[in-house]
Amino acid sequence: MNEPSPTSLVFRHHPRRFGEWKYVYPVVSRRAGGVSLGINLNLDKICNFDCVYCQVDRRELGEREFPDLRHLEEELREAISWIAAGEIFSHPAFQDTPPAFRRFCDIAFSGDGEPTTYRNFTEVVAKAATLRRELAPPEVKLVLITNASMFHRPAVREGLELLNANHGEIWAKLDAGTEDYFRRIARTSISFSQILENITQAAKAWPIVIQTLLMRWGEEPPGQAERVAYCQRLREVVQAGGSLRRVQLYTVARKPAEDFVQPLTLEELEAWAAAVRETVGVPVVVYP
Ligand code: SF4
Repeated sequence: MNEPSPTSLVFRHHPRRFGEWKYVYPVVSRRAGGVSLGINLNLDKICNFDCVYCQVDRRELGEREFPDLRHLEEELREAISWIAAGEIFSHPAFQDTPPAFRRFCDIAFSGDGEPTTYRNFTEVVAKAATLRRELAPPEVKLVLITNASMFHRPAVREGLELLNANHGEIWAKLDAGTEDYFRRIARTSISFSQILENITQAAKAWPIVIQTLLMRWGEEPPGQAERVAYCQRLREVVQAGGSLRRVQLYTVARKPAEDFVQPLTLEELEAWAAAVRETVGVPVVVYP
């Protein structure tokens, strides 16, 4: 794909609020390959990770009220119809979308926190699946962008099953190969072994996508030992019978939570990609 520069405004500007909508927000996403309709279930901006590179602006407090499912459904219906009809590209925020990205790719559970921590997650997946079937072109996927911390909960597992039965994909975050590096990045009390176990179990049930953000810590890129360990963790998932659809390697594109977080170069990302291809043998896509 002849991809435009990542500095293009249409890719860098990903507000989680659009017009009057509260829960849904369209963006042009390089990783989706076109228009992605985000669903934000975490208006309170609370997350069970505190990633050093997080791009959620937490300087302003989020909303405290519990998401209103009927309201969310109305917005979803309206937004899916609007994008499916192509009307989105007449809007000033989307009129500069490059031709290759003028397609409706997915409805993504994403937003200002971890979507699977929302207690009605499965119910929202069911609503999105129904509306996708009714209103969207058949190729539009349901995507869950997740830190994989909650997959072991039975209610979340039910939501994952429903997602995968409805042209869904799980994009699970794995940013580290070692417990130490994981802790430094994610700043969470959830253990690295729990994340790895959740990813392995999900990959054994369905082919999943791994999404990995690679960053420079001040001047320091992640070292060779971390890269080897990361590849080994992916190999272990595959050796346990897991299926990895592809690995997405990307870097910081918008303002991160911490100023010491800096992007990697394309060459550095490509070196990681080559290591993953060689040692794990799965497709890798790089997003500088
Ligand atoms: S898991 Fe996502 S939303 Fe939560 S802190 Fe990390 S990057 Fe931010």
